[in-house]
Amino acid sequence: MNYYSTNGKAPIADLQKAVVKGLAEDRGLYMPERIEKLPKAFFDNIQDMKFQDIAYNVASNFFGEDVDEDALQDIVYDTLSFDCPVVEVKDNIYTLELFHGPTLAFKDVGARFMARLLGYFLRRSGSTCGCATATNSTVNVLVATSGDTGSAVANGFLGVEGIHVYVLYPKGKVSPIQECQFTTLGQNITAIEVDGVFDDCQALVKSAFMDEELNQHMKLTSANSINVARFLPQAFYYFNAYARMKALGKADNLVMCVPSGNFGNICAALFGHEMGLPIKRFIAANNANDVFYNYLQTGKYEPKASIQTLANAMDVGDPSNFARIYDLYGKSHERISSLISGATYKDEQIAETMRQCYSETGYVLDPHGACGYKALEEGLQEGEIGVFCETAHPAKFKEKVDSILGTDIEIPARLRAFMEGEKQSVEMSKDFADFKHYLMQQ
Ligand SMILES: *Cc1c(COP(=O)(O)O)cnc(C)c1O
Repeated sequence: MNYYSTNGKAPIADLQKAVVKGLAEDRGLYMPERIEKLPKAFFDNIQDMKFQDIAYNVASNFFGEDVDEDALQDIVYDTLSFDCPVVEVKDNIYTLELFHGPTLAFKDVGARFMARLLGYFLRRSGSTCGCATATNSTVNVLVATSGDTGSAVANGFLGVEGIHVYVLYPKGKVSPIQECQFTTLGQNITAIEVDGVFDDCQALVKSAFMDEELNQHMKLTSANSINVARFLPQAFYYFNAYARMKALGKADNLVMCVPSGNFGNICAALFGHEMGLPIKRFIAANNANDVFYNYLQTGKYEPKASIQTLANAMDVGDPSNFARIYDLYGKSHERISSLISGATYKDEQIAETMRQCYSETGYVLDPHGACGYKALEEGLQEGEIGVFCETAHPAKFKEKVDSILGTDIEIPARLRAFMEGEKQSVEMSKDFADFKHYLMQQ
């Protein structure tokens, strides 16, 4: 399969190049040239299939031309060693729990899949991954994080041969539960504690990608949701949701509601829809960061600075995957707004929704999932069944959740285990010269 850039000015790439490079030369996002429909027989039998088998069918539709069958099967099965169940919250409203992976967040699937696919390409090509003239054959993944992405990427890549991960995070601005998930791992994961804010971390990573001397010295790549290998596998979730709802006899008028920040997750759902997944319509649920919501109302896309909210993994003022959605529907506002509707909630509404849902149903929402639940409560029409994604386990935001609900929610054993590990990190200033000097010595 060939991949083109949404900016239309970069050469066509094959899958390997798209995965290794992440962003195209013209700073556009890679898009597959074709999206094939899955056969009717697949949808007829999907309710009897396991998550892993469903996912393998979806994966081979995207990646089958470029990855050996056995290898792809291993990558999918190894990535999905956990379940993503659908749970009824109340009448006609279900949640798709995406938080049963190693770091209890939905980003685990994309991160693990990408790590394994990159590992496969490195082995297959004997480490000449087409990504530079760099002298050292290790591929170095740089990732800036405000909390959640770093833990999913670090755990996804942990122990993968030929790859080293540097997680840059703002000192003192990440919760202790989040910090321990990427600072205690060791092996091929290095945590870099930057004396600055998240934007400083991101600026260091961007400068590193653009520094010629550094790129001669080492192979660098990114692992955020601009990467096709990270966002596309999230489509697995939606086929599984459909299968589980079909098994319940509730799949006819499905509305899929996705709490969104960079729009990678919902974009994967939309790719699934293009593959024939029978979802009636979609809702993108946002916190107070309302750029996409405004686009739906006005047809104008006007990025702005992000606002800090309770649902902080969705604090994005210029969602990177908007470019993919825009391209997917031929830049047509009409097509986009007739399939997707929006919702935006302020912190008080998020907190109130969490309290109301807990007292009414007993279900503990995290602040991100709360946006999805609220959007369905408000937006579901007669005869429709809604499924919203729970994108993180509420214990990842324990302090906030407990103070809003007056609870003392239990921290799952997997999270506690991270908290018992020993923190290791490299202190760094926000000055690029220091970061570069450090990398040049590796
Ligand atoms: C990353 C994240 C989101 C937003 O996902 P996008 O793919 O960026 O839209 C929502 N909730 C949680 C908990 C996240 O970590």
